[in-house]
Amino acid sequence: MEQLMRDFFLFLSKNKTLTKLAKRYGLRFGASRFVAGETIERAVEVIKELNRKGLAVTIDYLGEFVDNEQEANEMANHSIEAIRAIGANQLNSQLSLKMTSMGLDISDELVMKNMRRILDEAKIHGVFVTIDMEDYSRCQKTIDIFKQLKKEYDNVGTVLQAYLYRTEKDIEDLNAYHPNLRLVKGAYKESSEVAFPDKKDVDENFKKIIKMHLLNGNYTAVATHDDAIIEYTKQLVKEHNIPNNQFEFQMLYGIRPERQEQLVREGYTMRVYVPYGTDWYGYFMRRLAERPANVAFVLKGIFKK
Ligand code: FAD
Repeated sequence: MEQLMRDFFLFLSKNKTLTKLAKRYGLRFGASRFVAGETIERAVEVIKELNRKGLAVTIDYLGEFVDNEQEANEMANHSIEAIRAIGANQLNSQLSLKMTSMGLDISDELVMKNMRRILDEAKIHGVFVTIDMEDYSRCQKTIDIFKQLKKEYDNVGTVLQAYLYRTEKDIEDLNAYHPNLRLVKGAYKESSEVAFPDKKDVDENFKKIIKMHLLNGNYTAVATHDDAIIEYTKQLVKEHNIPNNQFEFQMLYGIRPERQEQLVREGYTMRVYVPYGTDWYGYFMRRLAERPANVAFVLKGIFKK
């Protein structure tokens, strides 16, 4: 049943008509639990509050299914606006973005042009930029673009997903670049030809790649809400004397906020992924897919309106 619900929400997340409708009608159905707001001004207020609690942030201007050059350029402009807001308000925040919103499905030249504009601005303000990882069909292209950009910029990193069979090899290959990587379980619906179908295997592979990347001496962001993985990481760094400034934990805005603050109190760097913008629909559906229990919360939101 849970798997069915998961598949259903992941299916809904890809619906372009619903994506457009959601943009038009604004944040609804309890999405504001996971999305900071629709404007940069609102996102800045949320980040200030998180920073006050000792939480670091990575901000993301939401956007999916960008299929024309003008829209991709506008998305890049929003990221640049976010970087300037980080600088102007002296926020403890990095930036995250998706390659498809920069024009990945249009042309490599467009993505590179937009990414260079963003990374040049980010450099001025000392902001680190993480390229989120999307579905499997975009994985190789995203890694290739990351490699190219990493040769030109220090302030760029990307994400690898533990559910993919290929990820162990990607960790090895990318080691030559000494990358700052965010490691996650993976949020998209993938076939068993490319991804572990069983959660148990994903969790084992997650531990394996965390260990590999940390022992290679690289900066590692362990992005999870899973206590077992958090405890594993804590033990691992203790055993191998890995300093606290070589890794961090990351969680999503609105998920386990008490645990986030507790990790800060324990002395760890804890970064919260803060999405904002009008294109909240696909992101929200993926969060529901991860935890169908959240659906009850959403239904309450609908009936309150
Ligand atoms: P799970 O096994 O899913 O969850 C463990 C426990 O966490 C659950 O039992 C529950 O208690 C709690 N929990 C998990 N999800 C929720 C929820 N939605 N609501 C309430 N409680 C919850 N994926 C990508 O594919 N590409 C990316 O670039 C990417 N970036 C990410 C960045 C950050 C900072 C984070 C935290 C995640 C990112 N993800 C990304 C999503 C990731 O792949 C997982 O889908 C997501 O984190 C859920 O997996 P989990 O590790 O938390 O473990």
